[in-house]
Amino acid sequence: MKIGNYTLHAIQTGLFRLDGGAMFGVVPKPLWSKTNPADDRNRIDMCMRALLLASEKRKILIDNGIGYKMSQKLNDIYGVDHSEFTLEKSLASAGYKKEDITDVILTHLHFDHAGGSTYLDENGDMKLTFPNATHYLQQKQWEWANNPTERDKASFFPENFDLIHKEKHLNLIEGDYKFDDYIQLHVINGHTPFQQIVTVRDDNNTLLYSADLFPMASHVHIPYIMGYDLFPLTTLEEKKKFLPKIADEDWLVLFEHDPYTETARVRKTEKGFQTIEVVELSKR
Ligand SMILES: [Zn+2]
Repeated sequence: MKIGNYTLHAIQTGLFRLDGGAMFGVVPKPLWSKTNPADDRNRIDMCMRALLLASEKRKILIDNGIGYKMSQKLNDIYGVDHSEFTLEKSLASAGYKKEDITDVILTHLHFDHAGGSTYLDENGDMKLTFPNATHYLQQKQWEWANNPTERDKASFFPENFDLIHKEKHLNLIEGDYKFDDYIQLHVINGHTPFQQIVTVRDDNNTLLYSADLFPMASHVHIPYIMGYDLFPLTTLEEKKKFLPKIADEDWLVLFEHDPYTETARVRKTEKGFQTIEVVELSKR
C-alpha cells in the first residue's frame, strides 16, 4: 500500500502473550474470550506489529517489538515466541535491513514496543539495533520512563533505551508533531503519559498506527480499556475523540498487538463502533 511518498509494510516482530483480564479491563471473560480465547495461564495470543514507511529518501520504522534481551523467566511469563516472525526476517521480506532505517518513531518505551531498539552482541556488549537512525520520542514520556511509579515500572527496562540517549540518537519532541507532509504524531495520555500515535495521510487515505490506544481490534468497542492503562478515563475520552473521525473519514486503523487483524476500517453502528472490512497492507 502507498500513502504519499511512502510504501507501507507491516513488520511482524514476534508473538507474545498477556493476561486476558489485564488486556480487557472491566470486560468479563465470557465476552472477551469469544474473540480472544485464553490459554491455561489465562493468557491471550498477541503480536508486536511494527510499521515500516519506505520512501526513496527515508526508511521510517514505528516501534520495534520486544527484542532479544529478556531473561528466560520473563520470556516464559510473556510467552515470547520468535520462531515464526522476527524484526530482521520481516524487514528482509520488505527488502531492507536494520542499517537502512533512517528514523525510528517510538510510540512509548514499554518493553513490547521499544525492546528491539538495542541488542547484546556476541561479546555481550549493548548495541543500537538501528545505528543510522534518529529515534523520536516525547520528552515527557522519556522523563516518565526514567521515573515510573511502582504500578508501571515493570514495563520500563532502561537497557532498552539508555543507549539511544547516551549515543545521541534520541530526538525528544514536545507535543503533537508534524514529521513531514504525510506523517503526523499525536500525543495521548491514558495508557501512559505522552504516548504518541501516528497518522500517515494523503488526499486518498489515512492510516492510524494506534499503538496502545487500540492494541487489538476488540478495543474499538469503547468499554474495552486495558487494565494496564494508568488513566482509563483519559483513554475513554481519547477513544471518543478519535473514533468519530476514524469512522467518518474512513481511516484505516493498524492494530499493533492483534495477531488476527492487521488493519481495519471502523463504522458507527447501533451497537457502537465496530470494525468492518479487514485489510492487509500487502494486499492493497
Ligand atoms: Zn504500552
